[in-house]
Amino acid sequence: MSDGSGGASRRLLLLLGPVAAGKGTQAEALSHRLNLAHLASGDLFRQQVQSGSELGRKANEYMDRGELVPDDLTIAMFMDRLDEPDAERGAILDGFPRTVGQARALDATLSERGEALDRVILIDVPDEEIVRRVAGRRVCPVDHRTYHVTDDPPSKPGRCDLDGTELVHRDDDRPEVVRARLEKQMPPMREVVEHYRRSGIVERFDGTQPIPAITAEILARLDAQPAAGGGSDG
Ligand code: AMP
Repeated sequence: MSDGSGGASRRLLLLLGPVAAGKGTQAEALSHRLNLAHLASGDLFRQQVQSGSELGRKANEYMDRGELVPDDLTIAMFMDRLDEPDAERGAILDGFPRTVGQARALDATLSERGEALDRVILIDVPDEEIVRRVAGRRVCPVDHRTYHVTDDPPSKPGRCDLDGTELVHRDDDRPEVVRARLEKQMPPMREVVEHYRRSGIVERFDGTQPIPAITAEILARLDAQPAAGGGSDG
């Protein structure tokens, strides 16, 4: 139940960006600095599945097939989660809304409560840089630690620093698989960006900068902008 403590003054940010844009890292940093709950849709669904809830059971049918969970279930889950005490000051939405249909449904549901998304933070990274980041990943099959052949190499080439196991290049991380994933994921994301650009709340960031520089720029621009409605679309 919302008791009005959240209400129109809480801060609701949407974080958008392709895989390997550094969204998770930025979400953690921002949630810590701004004291906002980090609500990652995939994680929330997995928690529901693990808890054995009715919602989790329904969602799992779709997740198992790699499909999107229907909008009504997804919205209901987010709205419930937004009523938890840790989201009282606001939240960073990560992975939702993922389609323009979800964006419209979220806007309508928030508006019934006198709320709206405050800002959309778009972390932009060129496709070829995404492919370079993902295709260079190597993973230890034993402890799942991730390396990158040039950006974060192990001390002995091809071997895990922790247990010496031979690192693997996952099939999902092959360049052609990454490109196919981007081709599928980018058009709906661009539509979501376009949807919010019309309300002037999109802030675009260059995701090729170092991680701390991006965090600092996000914090500076959030501070510099008035809340809800009056932003720039970069
Ligand atoms: P992820 O961890 O973001 O890859 O999400 C894992 C799974 O959760 C997806 O394959 C979908 O089945 C579901 N999911 C995550 N986000 C959404 C969303 N915004 N709408 C519908 N289903 C979602």
